[in-house]
Amino acid sequence: IISIFGATLGAALATIIILLRRNNLSMKTRLQQALGHNGLTMEYQPIVDIATGRTVAAEALVRWKENGEAIPPDVFIPVAEKAGLINRLTICVIENVLKDMAPVLDANPDFHVSINITAADLFNRDFSAQLASRLEEANVTSSQIVLEITERSTANAADAIEAIKRLRSRGHRIFIDDFGTGYSSLAYLGELNVDGIKIDRSFTQTIGTGSVSVSIVPQIIGMAHVHHLDIVVEGIETPAQRDYFAALVPKVDGQGWLFGRPTSAATIRELLNSLT
Ligand code: C2E
Ligand code: MG
Ligand code: MG
Ligand code: MG
Repeated sequence: IISIFGATLGAALATIIILLRRNNLSMKTRLQQALGHNGLTMEYQPIVDIATGRTVAAEALVRWKENGEAIPPDVFIPVAEKAGLINRLTICVIENVLKDMAPVLDANPDFHVSINITAADLFNRDFSAQLASRLEEANVTSSQIVLEITERSTANAADAIEAIKRLRSRGHRIFIDDFGTGYSSLAYLGELNVDGIKIDRSFTQTIGTGSVSVSIVPQIIGMAHVHHLDIVVEGIETPAQRDYFAALVPKVDGQGWLFGRPTSAATIRELLNSLT
């Protein structure tokens, strides 16, 4: 009986492993197909000057819908990275953003769009030229495109410093995304020579909860000031969270549901038209 049970269990485990592998494979294949027929779309989330309430920028967020079902980027971006599809995906994102936003960027010289790039893009020596040629075609100024890199991708400081320099020399601004969650680059924040940081949503969420991690927020802000970095606070959902940062920092931008959820390019265009 034990051996029958063992064999059954073994077969069940083998089936599960095969199913998991197959699922993984098919996600890669399906993503490849989506990339082939421009099946990815973009949403844009407003970034707001907390003091004035004015929308100063938008973050481009990629969307993939399959048979009406949205697959979150947190799920398919890692698959694209592992499958060697990330460079294609990032170029698709850039082309979509330029198609959606080139006229808006032209009409609003102070407005900018943030694009998320991965470590693979950052360390790809061709990437800055690929980006430059798209911008030139679309007649978009490089300083209006902010590139968001994760703190994790700066773990190798020497390589990151060089890659950041390469992109900044083309006129882009670089922000460290999800700041405070990674390999605390607090220590060498100055050397990285970026333009700003985005304070991770997890800090915003702890405001008003009495959690100890709130106490680190003023330190992060202090560091950012020392290095003359711009600050965007992620995940602002309540007026209390907004007010906390407004009281702490004279000039700070915020992003979150309080100001607006990710939305269509058309909605962002209307929003900006209503401002000018
Ligand atoms: P991220 O770059 O940190 O983007 C912010 C995420 O937080 C977005 O999730 C956004 O919808 C969500 N968010 C914004 N405000 C709030 C809020 O007030 N409350 C809560 N609970 N969430 C909020 P999304 O769109 O699901 O993207 C998740 C992650 O996927 C992004 O995190 C980014 O790392 C990655 N990602 C998204 N689009 C792209 C892309 O085009 N390229 C790359 N490489 N990665 C992307
Ligand atoms: Mg981001
Ligand atoms: Mg972020
Ligand atoms: Mg985040």
